Amino acid sequence: MAGEKTVLVVGGGISGITAAVEAAEAGCKVILVEKLPYLGGRVARMNKYFPKLCPPTCGLEINFKRIKRNPDITVYTLANVENISGAPGAYTATIKITPRYVEDHSGTSKCVEDCPASIPNEFNYGMDMTKAIYLPYEMAYPMNLVADADALRKAKVSQDFGAFVESLQAKGIRLDLDAKPESLTVQVSSIVWATGWVPYDATKLDTLGFGKYPNVITNVMMERLASPNGPTGGQIVRPSDGKKVYNLAFVQCAGSRDENHLPYCSSICCLASLKQATYLRDYNPDAEAHIFYIDLRAYGRFEYFFDRVRNDDKIRLTKGKIVNIYEDPVTRDVIVEGEDILSGSRIRSTFDMVVLATGMQPTTSLEKVPAQGIQYDDYGFVISDTGIHAAGVTKRPMDVGTCLQDSTGAALKALQDTVGR
Ligand SMILES: Cc1cc2nc3c(=O)[nH]c(=O)nc-3n(C[C@H](O)[C@H](O)[C@H](O)COP(=O)(O)OP(=O)(O)OC[C@H]3O[C@@H](n4cnc5c(N)ncnc54)[C@H](O)[C@@H]3O)c2cc1C
Repeated sequence: MAGEKTVLVVGGGISGITAAVEAAEAGCKVILVEKLPYLGGRVARMNKYFPKLCPPTCGLEINFKRIKRNPDITVYTLANVENISGAPGAYTATIKITPRYVEDHSGTSKCVEDCPASIPNEFNYGMDMTKAIYLPYEMAYPMNLVADADALRKAKVSQDFGAFVESLQAKGIRLDLDAKPESLTVQVSSIVWATGWVPYDATKLDTLGFGKYPNVITNVMMERLASPNGPTGGQIVRPSDGKKVYNLAFVQCAGSRDENHLPYCSSICCLASLKQATYLRDYNPDAEAHIFYIDLRAYGRFEYFFDRVRNDDKIRLTKGKIVNIYEDPVTRDVIVEGEDILSGSRIRSTFDMVVLATGMQPTTSLEKVPAQGIQYDDYGFVISDTGIHAAGVTKRPMDVGTCLQDSTGAALKALQDTVGR
């Protein structure tokens, strides 16, 4: 029976990938739609996963293989679902696909280094630049170049652009800046919505210095900074001057559990900071990490991970609320101020760099599912489960392991959708 069904999975992060391969391996046809040029979502940009501290590429690679060898999965990247109508068992969806503007027959699968235009590297949260004809990252799926048409159109006015396009052709790379978006209408029996999360915008945290002081970064940036394929090749150094970090502060609940920002707990930020403290200690054994927290939360089996990390006496934990962060303009060191909750004393400490542990905001709080009848909680997480099945962080903050279970469940629900249910 599953063989008669087609499941549309929206969002190519770990949740969407899981739902797609589970549904396809149970005999369905699957259309997987991802808005970025590559699959993998946020986890593709991580250095390591807690609790095992293995690189996420291991898990992703296995899933990419499962997708590649399964002819029943069709992947559309740079794609958005614009409209959905119908009911469980019989939906119609319209998908808009943006061109990649470049066809690569060169077999090199590398950014085009002599491209005259550069753009902020979105994969590295803008911490460095990449060429405007680029491979998003070394393990990208699909392993295809993509071009930033706007940046290249601006570069087109330069005299040597024609020569550059010719040199591309000689390498087997064809650039087509006039390529047009395509629209596709598909009939599917079920839909899984797995559009995940965005990091809470730290520039909204007026007093915590992000965007004002270069040595105040966010936790997602810290993942890239520590990654061997990140902007510094895995060196944990200060953005302001490239100085090796010896003294790093993590500020927990940056915007979380705060009525003015994200009133809920994202549940994984404490574990993420504990994990990132180990990045620093591995990179620089002389370094110290200082975590300022309101409550340290390590739920379920993650308690063991917390215990393991806190045994390191160069990882210090202070129950304290940080209210103000500013820079010493001479040294570019960062000063954090707040209250030590247990002693009642004032905190004023200086660090080489500060990481703000910002929470996960559901993408659906910013872009709703383009269908009728979807219900959201006060924060934008999807709470309804009739017809369109939400999976992973679209439903609530979750770690990767929980996303895998949740998305497998969503695939099972999708398999059961029939007309009239
Ligand atoms: C700093 C930090 C560190 C973390 N470290 C760990 C860890 O070590 N271990 C762990 O278990 N968990 C960790 N997590 C949690 C982990 O990131 C999430 O569990 C995971 O990303 C959830 O995957 P997802 O597929 O639900 O969402 P996402 O990873 O957000 O994927 C969603 C996908 O949907 C795409 N998308 C969005 N909108 C659309 C649209 N309209 N149309 C099509 N596609 C769309 C996105 O581009 C993305 O590819 C960490 C979280 C943070 C903040």
